[in-house]
Amino acid sequence: MKKVYSARDIDELHIGGGLGSISADAILTPSARDRLKELGNPKPTRPGDASIGGNQKDSIDKSVRANSPKEDLERLFHSPAVRELKEQICEVGRRLWQRAYVDGNGGNLSIRLTDDVVLCTPTLVSKGFMKPEDLCLVDLEGNQLAGVKKRTSEILMHLQIMKAQPKARAVSHAHPPHATGFAVAGVQPPTCMIPEIEVFIGRVPIAPYETPGTIEMGRKVAELVDHHNTVLMENHGVVSWSNSIEDAYFKMEIVEAYCRTVVVTTQLGVQPKQFSPRHLQDLLKIKQELGVPDPRFGLKECELCDNDEWRPGVTCAVPATDGGSSASTDPQAESVVQVVTDEIMNRLKG
Ligand SMILES: [Zn+2]
Repeated sequence: MKKVYSARDIDELHIGGGLGSISADAILTPSARDRLKELGNPKPTRPGDASIGGNQKDSIDKSVRANSPKEDLERLFHSPAVRELKEQICEVGRRLWQRAYVDGNGGNLSIRLTDDVVLCTPTLVSKGFMKPEDLCLVDLEGNQLAGVKKRTSEILMHLQIMKAQPKARAVSHAHPPHATGFAVAGVQPPTCMIPEIEVFIGRVPIAPYETPGTIEMGRKVAELVDHHNTVLMENHGVVSWSNSIEDAYFKMEIVEAYCRTVVVTTQLGVQPKQFSPRHLQDLLKIKQELGVPDPRFGLKECELCDNDEWRPGVTCAVPATDGGSSASTDPQAESVVQVVTDEIMNRLKG
């Protein structure tokens, strides 16, 4: 039976580098055909068409390991499937640069190709002008396996994230100014303001500052990736992970747009409005249906919009219900109350 491909199938194959596996007699939906055109593949490969690569040649050889012979690593590095991923990285690099999320040679991107082989951006190259041949191949300790340019020094952080979070197939790091502003101020972005960030990201924690390029910095970030797909790095920038480099980049866009909107909101001179914990509960339901994890699943409503800095006085404490008995009253507080009461009484008397 002929296989039918939807646009979503095409995207999935594209991410996994398996577009070449679509046979010429496959049925493509109109949107799948459009998606293929957008990706620069106007028609599927005909079986046996050696110039484009047959069924197997266009997918990543997952059996390659960091300790495989040099020629296997080079073959993987120069394979059509990896070429496609290199182009994706260059495209995301251009978007980062065009949106001013990176400056100078800042920012770095990576994709885990096999168990212990990772494709990454080079050091000292602007992300806006990278070419596929600039990219590098490294093992999980950061040792370079292939590529003419030297790998980014911040790959150590990406690798720590990948080791701590097996779902992190791709990592994106940049310095978008608004989100980085929160990271420099040490202020966690508030929640319950815009739905999109709640669904696709969630709470964005801040990893304590460490010198860029050190293993210690990677560790501080990696401690948070179990529950968070996007992390602010104190006095530095933002890092996000996902199963594809494009999705990791989307998270960068979402967190930056959010922080920018919050900054604009606070300049309007009025107390920002927030949606209620009940509405957040609704968003978390959608999130759960989409299969995006969030540590807030199952929390009580009063625990959800905990923006102390933005909505002072929000508390989850339950008032004592022991009929007004003062059994639990702090003795120190009680003596202060006594002193104040006495003072008032004295003044009244005087
Ligand atoms: Zn950086």
